[in-house]
Parts: sequence; structure tokens; C-alpha cells
Amino acid sequence: MSQRAFFPSKYIQGANIINELPDIIKDFGSKPVIIASPSVKSKILPSYGEIILKKKIDIIVFNGECTNTEIDRCLKIINDNHYDIVIAMGGGKTIDTGKICADKANLPVIVIPTIASTDAPCSACAVTYTKEGNFESVLYQKTNPTMVIVDTKVIANAPARFLISGMGDALATFFEAKSCLRSNAKNECNGHSTLTAFQISKLCYDTLLRYGLLAKIANENQIVTPALNNIIEANILLSGIGFESCGLATAHAVHNGLTELPETHKYYHGEKVAFGVLTGLHLNSEDKQTIDTVYEFCKQIGLPTTFSEIGLKNISKDKLLKIATKTCSKEQSIHHEITIITKEKVIDALIMANAYGEKF
Ligand SMILES: [Zn+2]
Repeated sequence: MSQRAFFPSKYIQGANIINELPDIIKDFGSKPVIIASPSVKSKILPSYGEIILKKKIDIIVFNGECTNTEIDRCLKIINDNHYDIVIAMGGGKTIDTGKICADKANLPVIVIPTIASTDAPCSACAVTYTKEGNFESVLYQKTNPTMVIVDTKVIANAPARFLISGMGDALATFFEAKSCLRSNAKNECNGHSTLTAFQISKLCYDTLLRYGLLAKIANENQIVTPALNNIIEANILLSGIGFESCGLATAHAVHNGLTELPETHKYYHGEKVAFGVLTGLHLNSEDKQTIDTVYEFCKQIGLPTTFSEIGLKNISKDKLLKIATKTCSKEQSIHHEITIITKEKVIDALIMANAYGEKF
């Protein structure tokens, strides 16, 4: 098998960068369209996109769920109007819809995340849902985004919980990368990890530990500081390249197991992933110092370390079994760990993750 690493073609991050969009994209086409969430149209563009609004770039307002019907609707508008660049602006679902539409229409896609809550923007994959909001499938695009543009002012003005959740998602990257390397498991590019991607995942982890708390405080005060800048890069670029080009393991499988219980649905992706990281630490018997460092980090910035912090106070044995059953199902990335995985081991690690969180 080959080694593979995927990257977005261009990554641009800066304060008020959204207003430079018309200039940045001018070489890629002449008829852009923005797929924007309702809040991007009503709040972000009027506050940060004065020049975009003046240029009168057409906007398709996203309907809130990345379903096949919504993808077909947006795609028809794109084709009927002969747009030649797709700009996807908003949260994860808006971005995923834009990526899929652009891929189907063979057009460049410019991704502009308005929150830093996951590491999905830079990747060449997107998730579709049923109209009820249940997970349907992961679609892989022919290329990674042509450009990812992150306006740090916009991120600084979004609620800090998004950034914290993004740090939870980013926290998983190095641990899952190590697991895949140990077991020679496949990454999300259907290949093996490279030195480049592995070092990026390590840099992601080091950046979180060094700047996480400072960035959280900056975000709470809605100011862009060097620490916030570094954490935005860690959440979106470093973790994005890291997860896709190194691979997933326990943390994301536990996340998928947790989503089986409706009580966890109001918690964000990165919050559940963070609890998955803690579970992985115990499952893999990481050294005490590493375990303490990660718990300390989670406590400091406000990521969950106990069941009650993800809606699972006084969890029953049946519910633990339900989580473990999904976590261990054969398509899950927990099997990228080097050891043989059983439901019993996962249940023990879940209990330990919570118990240590309560004691810590
Ligand atoms: Zn994730």
C-alpha cells in the first residue's frame, strides 16, 4: 500500500479576510455563488462582508440540513445559472453541502468556516443526513477544497463553546495518528501516514497544550490574539490535515457510540470526541503523565471529563453496552488500534474515563 497525504490547495487565515474574497477568487472564475447559512446572510455578511455585499455576489440560502434533496436543489441552481465558483460559508453542514455540490458540478470550492468547531473544512469528505437529521453517509470528493479561508474576527466573535469543541476534535488527532501508525492502519486517504502528516498532528497537540487556555479566554473576550490565531490554525488546518492523512481510531469510534444515546445529542461533535480521547487513554494504557496532562487540559478549557458532562449522569449498564456495541461494530475506526478490541474492554475504559474525571 502507498503513503498518501491530502491537503487543501490554499489556506488563508486572518482578521477581516472575508472582505478580500472578491480579490482572492478572481483568478478562479467570474461568476461565483455563495451557499450561506441563514445566520451568515443575516449577521456575518452585513457585519464583515461589506465588500462582498457591494459586489452583489449571488447567495443561495442553505436550508439547514445536508440532505440529498438539499444537495440536488443547490446543484440545480448552480447549473441553471452557470456559476463557476462555489463559496461555502457557515458551519459544518453548509460547508459539506457546498463541497458536495462543487464536486458534482466539477467546480472549484472555496470553504469559509464561520466557527472553528471541527477539523472538517480542509478535508475532501463530507457527511450527508436524512431529513430527520440522522447520519446517512460519508461522501469523498475528488479533491480537497481549492481554498479554505478563515476570518479570525468572525471566529473570535462566535461563542467560545465552538472553539472549545474544536479543540476537543483537535485533541483526538495526535492520539489517533499514533494508533494508526502503531498498527499500520489506513488513513482517510486510503493509504498510510506520511512523516509530514504525523509531525503536523504532533504540532497540533503541542499547540493545544501551549495556547488552548489563552485562546479560550481571548474568544470569551472577543479579541484576536496570537494564541487564538494559533488555536484556530490547530483546530482547522493542523487537525484537518492530521486526521485525514494520519487516520482515525478510538476517539471517533467512541463519539459514534455516544451518539447512539439521544441524551448526548445536544453536545457538540468535539465534546463527545474529547470524551473518546479520554476513553482511548485508558484503553491504550497511556502513561500516567500523559493521562494527567490531557485531563488537566480538558478541565482547564472546559471539555467534558465525566459522563454527567455529556448528558449521561447515572448511566446504566444497558446504556454502556449500547455505546460499546456501536463503538466496536466492524466498520468503526477503533479497530485501527493495535490490540484486539472487545466490548468489555471498551466498557471498562469508558467507566475509567469517567471515574478518573470525577476524581481528578
Ligand atoms: Zn472529528
